[in-house]
Amino acid sequence: MGKQQFKAESKRLLELMINSIYSQREVFLRELISNASDAMDKMYYRSLTDENLTFNQEDYYIKLIPNKEDRTLQVIDTGIGMTKEELETNLGTIAKSGSFAFKNDTELKDGRDIIGQFGVGFYAAFMVADKVTVITKSVDSDQAYQWESTGTDGYTITPADKESVGTEIIVKIKENEEEDSFDTFLDEHQLQQIIKKYSDFIRYPIKMDVTKSKPKEEDSEEYVDYVEEETINSMIPIWKKNKSELTEDDYTNFYQEKRYGFDKPLKSMHINVDGTVRYNAILFIPENAPFDYYSPEFEKGLELYSNGVLIMNKCADLLPDYFSFVKGMVDSEDLSLNISREMLQHDRQLKVIAKNMTKKIKTQLQHLLRDDREKYETFYQAFGRQLKFGVYNDFGANKETLQDLLMFYSSKEKKLVTLAEYVQRMPEDQSYIYYAAGESIDRIEKLPQTEMVADKGYEILYFTEEVDEFAIKMMREYKEKEFKSVSSGDLGLEDDTKDEADEEIQEENKALFTAMKEHLGDKVKDVRASKRLKSHPVCLTAEGEISLEMEKVINAMPNNQQIKAEKILEINVNHDVFQALKSHKEDKEKIGLYTNLLYNQALLIEGIPVNDPVEFTNDICKVMV
Ligand code: ADP
Repeated sequence: MGKQQFKAESKRLLELMINSIYSQREVFLRELISNASDAMDKMYYRSLTDENLTFNQEDYYIKLIPNKEDRTLQVIDTGIGMTKEELETNLGTIAKSGSFAFKNDTELKDGRDIIGQFGVGFYAAFMVADKVTVITKSVDSDQAYQWESTGTDGYTITPADKESVGTEIIVKIKENEEEDSFDTFLDEHQLQQIIKKYSDFIRYPIKMDVTKSKPKEEDSEEYVDYVEEETINSMIPIWKKNKSELTEDDYTNFYQEKRYGFDKPLKSMHINVDGTVRYNAILFIPENAPFDYYSPEFEKGLELYSNGVLIMNKCADLLPDYFSFVKGMVDSEDLSLNISREMLQHDRQLKVIAKNMTKKIKTQLQHLLRDDREKYETFYQAFGRQLKFGVYNDFGANKETLQDLLMFYSSKEKKLVTLAEYVQRMPEDQSYIYYAAGESIDRIEKLPQTEMVADKGYEILYFTEEVDEFAIKMMREYKEKEFKSVSSGDLGLEDDTKDEADEEIQEENKALFTAMKEHLGDKVKDVRASKRLKSHPVCLTAEGEISLEMEKVINAMPNNQQIKAEKILEINVNHDVFQALKSHKEDKEKIGLYTNLLYNQALLIEGIPVNDPVEFTNDICKVMV
């Protein structure tokens, strides 16, 4: 059988992986051991539903055999094994999911990033190996197979001899390079340390023959070496250990071992609950969002264990959508092992656990915000959007839970602030929480609509994400202060005397405004004298529930409903341009031309494309000549 080629993207990834300067090559062993442990879990799980299988705990173990002469390290397990097809799909493509997409090479330079992000655990072996051979026999097949690869040039699969079900991986350790020794991975003592460091809690014994020495005879001074098989790991899962025994490093190792994410976790939580429902959980908040986080492919969920045995990889019911970024595991003695997915959904215990954990996650996030602002901001950059979706979704059912975790960029502080901070700083005469929506901070900063509010000395929150305004509309208010857009019809700023003056101006120029409105037709609902402009001649605002930003968002959606904001063209009556308008008020043609120009300018400022760019430039030319 000829050599099979890796899929193109796998090949590229493999090259990157092999050549990446990998600071912690030793984790390859963690990856292989983890796979072995999973394979035995699968066997155990299978035995629960398959009457023909029995599971004797002592039959399940991992064995490591280093061989200095051959420069090989064997990792043997008695797990479920792989069929030929499984070998092909599991080891022939590095990343199995269709959503697999590279960001760019710089982001992939760090090997650890690759491992976590794409789940290429097994391939980590190529960081230390010239050649990897996998001999495996599946519980579902009478024939064993051998998979072999020297790296990027593909792999072969051939029939092999193997008596028992399970998998044997032979890692041919690289020759030492200058200043770069691979002997570590052949050294009994150093291997023991690596296992202790990364795989101590694996529930199956990791055995290795260890050389020891003893006196030749009783009371003899002379010692002889002998070899004895030893179990290297303690086998106590980390979540069953006492928090006080564990360091941050232990949690980080666990996170990486489990491949919950790339990089290090931003925060870890260890929960032991011994109440009516008993459970242990280790939860993590990742530092970065997974590359597919905000895509429909992303699946939330935690690993679910029943008394130490993994029963589900991604139990979605344990996490609300707004905390879908949380990674980790839950172990409960109170859950039945053979519980089906359908039953789990209705399981009362599970509901209690989920509710309890959700509370704890929220508390942890609040503490992070209070005690380590910088870290919280890192978190918020990655997952703030999800929290805002959480406020909006389910008709705002979770807004109370989430509102104090939100942050927005402040016009005054020039950084992210919480709503509580905003409200607390509000001057006495300010009745609303003001916000401005736009594409970016820079753009919002230049929006004419912000002038008056900013001039009043009021702080403005900048909404740069599409979801922001929708979330805030769902909240309506925070601590009894309503939200108000700087583009909304009524800013709630004016005092009565000013109102009267405005009325007068409006009245005075009524004919002009009416002519302008008539010229624009149903492009706008009205043309008015502005109460919010200072230095800019013109702006667009919206009346009613739909803001200009929301119109943009809604109309960008796939089955867009052509929802229109009720646009108001506001004119700054104190601007020279307005004087020019006034002086031509009898000239219908000029008024039409100026109105078009002003309207299109207002659109551009809002980031809305003008209807007819050619006409617009022609209009400008007309004014110039
Ligand atoms: P991951 O473990 O994240 O799925 P890997 O590349 O490490 O990614 O492994 C790919 C797949 O190959 C595993 O999901 C598993 O199905 C299979 N596999 C790997 N090692 C073993 C093993 N020792 N026994 C049985 N199956 C294995």
